[in-house]
Amino acid sequence: MSAHPMFNSPTLETEATPMTNAVYGSTPGQSAAVPTQPGTAALRPVDSKRVTELIGQLLAALGEDPEREGLVDTPARVASWWSSFLSPEPFAMVTSFTETRLSAQLVVVGGMSVWSLCEHHLLPMNLEVAIGYLPDGEVIGLSKFGRIAQRYAGRLQVQERFTRQVAEEIAGVVGGKDVAVAVRGTHLCMSMRGVRMEAARTTTLQVGGLFKHDPVLSQQFLTIAAGQRGAL
Ligand SMILES: [Zn+2]
Repeated sequence: MSAHPMFNSPTLETEATPMTNAVYGSTPGQSAAVPTQPGTAALRPVDSKRVTELIGQLLAALGEDPEREGLVDTPARVASWWSSFLSPEPFAMVTSFTETRLSAQLVVVGGMSVWSLCEHHLLPMNLEVAIGYLPDGEVIGLSKFGRIAQRYAGRLQVQERFTRQVAEEIAGVVGGKDVAVAVRGTHLCMSMRGVRMEAARTTTLQVGGLFKHDPVLSQQFLTIAAGQRGAL
C-alpha cells in the first residue's frame, strides 16, 4: 500500500513499533491498533513556573551552566513555548452548513501543513494533511479543516493517531462515514537521529465509508490530494 501516487518520496516506516505504516481500510472508530487514550483526553493546563524550573535543571543535567549569558532566559522562553504549543485555540464547535444539492460531490481540502511533537522523542514532526469527504447534505466551512488539523497537532502525538482523530472529527461533523484523511509526515526523530534519513517520509491513510469500498473514489482522492500538495 505504499505505492500511492500521492507520495513521491520514499515511504519508510519510521518507528520500530508494530504499528503499520499505511493505515488503509480502517474505519473511523474501529482502529484497534491505536488505543483511545492520551491524545483524546482533555489536557491539564501547563504549569509554566514548574516547567521553567525543570528546564533550568535539564540544562544543568546536560552539563550546561544555566546562568551563562545566552541560557539565562532560556527556561522561561521554553516554558512559554510549551504553553502556547499545548494550548491551541479553545475547542470551538465546528459548524456545518446545509447544502442538500451537493450530495455525492467529492470535496478535497489539501496542502495543509501543521507541526506536532512526536511523543516518543519529543521532537517535531511536520504533517502535511489532505482531507476528503462526500457531503451528504452537510458541508464544512473550508477554513475549519486547518483548525481541526491544528488542534490535534498541538499535543504530544503519533502520526497514526493524529490521522485517525482528524478523520473521526470530520466524520462526526458531517454526520457520515465517507471521509478520507491522508497525512505525509516528516519526523525529526528520524531525520536527525539514528539513521539520519532526511528524505524519509511516513504516510498514513485513514478511509471510511465509500472511500473504503470504492477504489476509484479512493484513487481520485489521492490523485487530487497529490496535486494540491505542490512540488515538494
Ligand atoms: Zn519519534
